[in-house]
Amino acid sequence: RKLGYAIVGLGGYGLGIIIPQFKNCQHSKLVALVSGDPAKAKRVAAEYGVPERSIYDYKNFDAIKDNPDIDIVYVCLPVSMHAEYTIRAAAAGKHVMCEKPMAVSSAECEAMIAACKKAGKKLMIGYRCHFEAHNLEAVRFARSGAIGKLRYFRSEHGFTAGNPNAWRLKKAMSGGGSLMDIGIYALNAARYMTGEEPIAVYAKETTDRNDPRFREVEDMIEFQLEFPSGVIGSCMSMYSANQNHILLVGDKGRIDMEPGTRYDGNKLWVGQDRSNQITPPPGPGLTQWAGQLDHLSLCILNNKEPIVAGEEGLRDIRIIEAVYRSAREQKRIALA
Ligand code: NAD
Repeated sequence: RKLGYAIVGLGGYGLGIIIPQFKNCQHSKLVALVSGDPAKAKRVAAEYGVPERSIYDYKNFDAIKDNPDIDIVYVCLPVSMHAEYTIRAAAAGKHVMCEKPMAVSSAECEAMIAACKKAGKKLMIGYRCHFEAHNLEAVRFARSGAIGKLRYFRSEHGFTAGNPNAWRLKKAMSGGGSLMDIGIYALNAARYMTGEEPIAVYAKETTDRNDPRFREVEDMIEFQLEFPSGVIGSCMSMYSANQNHILLVGDKGRIDMEPGTRYDGNKLWVGQDRSNQITPPPGPGLTQWAGQLDHLSLCILNNKEPIVAGEEGLRDIRIIEAVYRSAREQKRIALA
């Protein structure tokens, strides 16, 4: 059986990336759209065979509760809107897929988890790399002992931010700068590659506040993670250059990915250097997004918890809050 998704927010990701993926899914289909732009919604509905009665806007959104075609609401909105639409979706009796970063604060994440729990609905965060073949294979290598005892992790993630008026550069809408948007890939990878939770962070931020893009949010932030085994994680995110790299060093070799978390073209090497390039076996879905979308559908159908449930999003946001605090106060912050 295919469960029905309503996509909320027809922007770059919701419309450009997610909607075209339903053709690759086995257990998920597109059944409804939520948009503030009626003409766009009508055009997209016609293209993807969504009935006009299943087009909603942000005001009549709560009427989705009367639409039995909708099983899951996928929140593809600016970060500051994630909590509101997750909580309203749960109140309407729908399961929720919410994009990363989960919300602008850990308090909001906690409220989202509580709302879904109260409604008896599943909550999953759009961590697509957990369904991406190269990342899955890298994790298998890390756990297999292929590179020996893990010692050091490093990841740099960045892209060049453009329009200074974009919501990503407005603190109230984004919750923060490069760390929230793209550094979260480095942080999340540090956790899934090592299989450990950090016990402390230390961070340093460098931002040109005269650059009109960075009046409100950080450009570059570098943070160190201490793991219980003694592994040190070194992560960096920036909005002033393109970077996409994951490296895990063990005492017998290294796992290297560059790019590591892109939509396409990720590369993986395992060994002493980059001479041994690995072609991973297929992931769980035809694409990482099909794997992600179908995972939540299958969790609902089989009453299982998603591997990247709300609690996983909350863990990252708690660490991100500690990273910002460390950068602000210039001191090591121990994590609870
Ligand atoms: P976007 O700006 O392209 O789209 C945002 C959508 O929200 C637009 O359709 C916009 O009209 C709508 N919107 C509604 N109210 C708005 C308001 N008050 N202000 C601004 N926009 C409003 O952004 P995006 O790149 O699609 O990002 C959406 C979400 O998806 C974010 O949480 C982002 O982090 C996430 N994302 C995830 C990935 C991934 O690989 N998992 C990639 C890109 C974006």
